[in-house]
Amino acid sequence: MTTSAVQSSESAPSPESASAYRTAVAQFDAVAERLHLSPSVAEVLRQPKRELVVNFPVKMDDGSVHVFTGYRVQHDQARGPCKGGIRYHPSVGLDEVRALAMWMTWKCAVVNLPFGGAKGGVAVDPRALTPNELENLTRRYAAEISIIIGPERDIPAPDMGTDMRIMAWIMDTYSMNAGHSVPGVVTGKPLSIGGSQGRVEATGRGLLYISQEAVRSLGRTLEGSSVAVQGFGNVGSVTAKLMAQAGARVVAVSDVDGGVYRASGFTADELIAAKSSGLPLSQAVAGADRITNAELLELPVDLLIPAAMEGQITTRNANKIRAGLIVEGANGPTTPEADAILASNGVPVVPDILANAGGVVVSYFEWVQDLQSFFWEEDEVNVKLHRIMTRAFAEVRALQERERVTMRDAANMLGVGRVAEAFLTRGVFP
Ligand code: NAD
Repeated sequence: MTTSAVQSSESAPSPESASAYRTAVAQFDAVAERLHLSPSVAEVLRQPKRELVVNFPVKMDDGSVHVFTGYRVQHDQARGPCKGGIRYHPSVGLDEVRALAMWMTWKCAVVNLPFGGAKGGVAVDPRALTPNELENLTRRYAAEISIIIGPERDIPAPDMGTDMRIMAWIMDTYSMNAGHSVPGVVTGKPLSIGGSQGRVEATGRGLLYISQEAVRSLGRTLEGSSVAVQGFGNVGSVTAKLMAQAGARVVAVSDVDGGVYRASGFTADELIAAKSSGLPLSQAVAGADRITNAELLELPVDLLIPAAMEGQITTRNANKIRAGLIVEGANGPTTPEADAILASNGVPVVPDILANAGGVVVSYFEWVQDLQSFFWEEDEVNVKLHRIMTRAFAEVRALQERERVTMRDAANMLGVGRVAEAFLTRGVFP
């Protein structure tokens, strides 16, 4: 371990962004009221079904032993096995994982996948571990949560701070215990062990498809539109690249250390080279102005894509947002209070559970392929992804127009409504 692997989050939270779970429950309560859900159904759906907290020892390279805390929360499984990513970040805690698990339930339902929602995580800064320590931690965490995961029960995937290499270690650890290979236990795996074509780019590609639909619904085209993307990880970097390839003018991108801005836009090749350099964006891109993350969020762009982490658009900056449209790449980047400000200022927001669902859609494809041991070409994956994302967008838009609500409310109504329907159809209440 190079520096402290367990430390507090980089950014100070705003007063109202302290708990992502508070946001998730507030959103749920508003939707339950709109849908006139019975109090008993609402009471069941507003809390997670199962929560596992594990404190586990990891042997470090210097011979010392460090105890880490990990979580796996299964929010609901009325529509199928639970599905959701695993996050490695110093700020991971039970409330955050609960919120993310709940959002996964609604997200899977919005895009009509046969999954419920789950999420997991470990409170750790993965960048502070050596590769060997990261593998030790992952295998130990996987062994601890293996009592509740499995292809028919709960299928993890990558999220912030985790990647396909980590999914491979989880799959291997689970398979060692099972005594045979179980590729369907995780998605987002390398191709060589049952991963899917198109999975790495799926969340960003889904964001592209949704952005195209959203811009079109406002009577514009993505080509020539100016775009700012916060976050340059799996989601942000792919989104920025695909946006540039689709003809948008990507004027600003950022990572945890800050951002870069160029009015004429960055090319897809520049963005790819910046990502593969492994350097902070401020060092990886030449001929651009440096900006802070706060400045990026307040740029006068056609399209703003927060794709870093939750709680980025708050009461502190919502009134300063000058974007024509926000498409949420991250989970929970906007607090409910900020949402209300954006709505009253007429800034449309395509919510996370619709906008960033491309990842879980292709995870679903990967799981199906693993169960059948029959693998698809990338074109097939992308065509099916496009069909699901555009259909979900149209369904949410139709509901939005019918109910005269924000797009977030419409997406939540669609997702929560589908889960409640499955729950009642199964006849849980005798
Ligand atoms: P990642 O770890 O690959 O990248 C995160 C990026 O955000 C990095 O560029 C990092 O430098 C930046 N960042 C971290 N803290 C920041 C801060 N305080 N301010 C600005 N930038 C910061 O993570 P990811 O997989 O790209 O996930 C990003 C978001 O998208 C998360 O909210 C995640 O839950 C959500 N998401 C991810 C997927 C997926 O398939 N990976 C799918 C759906 C949603």
